[in-house]
Amino acid sequence: MAETRKAKTPPESPPAKRVQTEGLWVKCENCKQILWKKDLLAKALCCTKCGFHFKMPAKARLEMLFDDGQYREHDRSLASTDPLDFRDTKSYQERLKKAEKETGLKDAAITGEGRLAGKPTIICAMEFHFVGGSMGAVVGEKITRAIDRCIEQKLPLVIVSCSGGARMMEGAISLMQMAKISPAPARLDEVRKPYISC
Ligand SMILES: [Zn+2]
Repeated sequence: MAETRKAKTPPESPPAKRVQTEGLWVKCENCKQILWKKDLLAKALCCTKCGFHFKMPAKARLEMLFDDGQYREHDRSLASTDPLDFRDTKSYQERLKKAEKETGLKDAAITGEGRLAGKPTIICAMEFHFVGGSMGAVVGEKITRAIDRCIEQKLPLVIVSCSGGARMMEGAISLMQMAKISPAPARLDEVRKPYISC
């Protein structure tokens, strides 16, 4: 799993495979050419020289999908409580803090409400840079709430999945999320709204 690999890297190693978010220029990790960041964003994070696909953060994904990049975020403050007081090479609490600092998110998913091609829509995008996009209680709860909102407000739902699997640091609780989420999208049938999985 992604997190096991991550645990073996020294904590100080530079995040070489990450798209630089500061500055005007970005180096392509495939062709090593220097790209103008604005061009790269206009091409949906595909290298303008070689076509290499950069990893797309969840925020960029929502901005790309919603009309004019405008959306309202839901459930932003939901955060894990570390139910098992888990520790491997370092504590789960430390991992969460580090991931929050790197991504600006409290967990590995963002839910946004806005317009897609003019139609009110809810989109939930997962963030791989947050503990490998793994699904613990918070991601499960955010997705379930997004589905509930869609049913209540009769809105279509788009989920952009990008996950390293279950969040092992939350043990059985993370496994329970699958059971919680799996039957939920079918309920959109009742309000005759689509669920689109990307
Ligand atoms: Zn390139």
